[in-house]
Amino acid sequence: MLILISDSFDSSLPEKLSKYGEVTDDKSRINEAEVLLIRSKTKVTKEYIDTSPKLKLVIRGGVGLDNVDLQYAGEKGITVHNTAAASAIAVAECAFTLMIGITNHVARADSSMRDGEWIKKELKRTELYKKTLGIIGLGRIGTELAKRAAAFEMNVVAYDPFVEKSDFADMKLELKDVLNISDYVSLHLPLIDTTRRIINSETLKEFKDGSFLINTGRGKIVVEKDVADALQNGKLAGFGNDVWYSDPPETNPFVHLPNVLMMPHLGASTKENLLRIGEIVENIIHEYHSN
Ligand code: NAD
Repeated sequence: MLILISDSFDSSLPEKLSKYGEVTDDKSRINEAEVLLIRSKTKVTKEYIDTSPKLKLVIRGGVGLDNVDLQYAGEKGITVHNTAAASAIAVAECAFTLMIGITNHVARADSSMRDGEWIKKELKRTELYKKTLGIIGLGRIGTELAKRAAAFEMNVVAYDPFVEKSDFADMKLELKDVLNISDYVSLHLPLIDTTRRIINSETLKEFKDGSFLINTGRGKIVVEKDVADALQNGKLAGFGNDVWYSDPPETNPFVHLPNVLMMPHLGASTKENLLRIGEIVENIIHEYHSN
């Protein structure tokens, strides 16, 4: 069987998988591939599936399956897996990095030093200690973030209509109330119909004045223009962002705003996570090969 590795995985993976068949990263061979490995870059649309008549198994290294047409894959008898459990720590640490980085002006402090400036008075840092963190979506990643926030003695509240209680966050509040009281709001939602554009000019009105927004979920769960407006009118004090409308973004309304810290979708991209993803991918292919 032909295994096509279409996106970037740990460099040790091709050799590990070679015992199950031929492994290639030549995307033009999609028409021969029985197994396809993707991350977020390759879009497995209806048109893409129609170019791959031999495809039986798609493995998404990571969590979000919004780049796969699951319904059409199902109709074509293609099994789709993700490696959901692998990325939680990597993404939670990414959200924490953005939260600490934006509130401490890390990027600005560094670039000012490189420019020969000394803006000590201008750059007042803010402590996380005793601040309220509101987590929207308390699944695997949100829970790992909540655990880490406890070490900083933050007050953690969360909104998730599908989770009743948690050992790590107060879950009693509605979305509006979480937004009202949080100094930091961190988004950990999948991109689905009910979460698309959930942070918009209306929900931003509910945010506490001068709060910080962190997004490591999906770009399209926020209306970027509305977030940029909230940063400019002072409703938001800062925005830490890892996820975009497209990778890379075609237009970026945050480029000229100083109170934004940006990453090129690095949430899951730790060395350790790529190894964990590789192990899970190998297990899935092993099971598929044995049946
Ligand atoms: P998860 O399924 O464990 O958690 C998602 C949670 O969101 C669930 O508990 C669900 O009940 C909740 N939810 C769904 N709709 C909601 C709503 N309307 N309001 C509030 N909560 C809602 O998933 P996870 O592993 O924690 O991953 C979360 C998301 O993080 C993924 O779907 C993906 O989009 C994103 N992600 C980003 C990166 C990155 O590189 N930045 C990497 C991995 C995952």
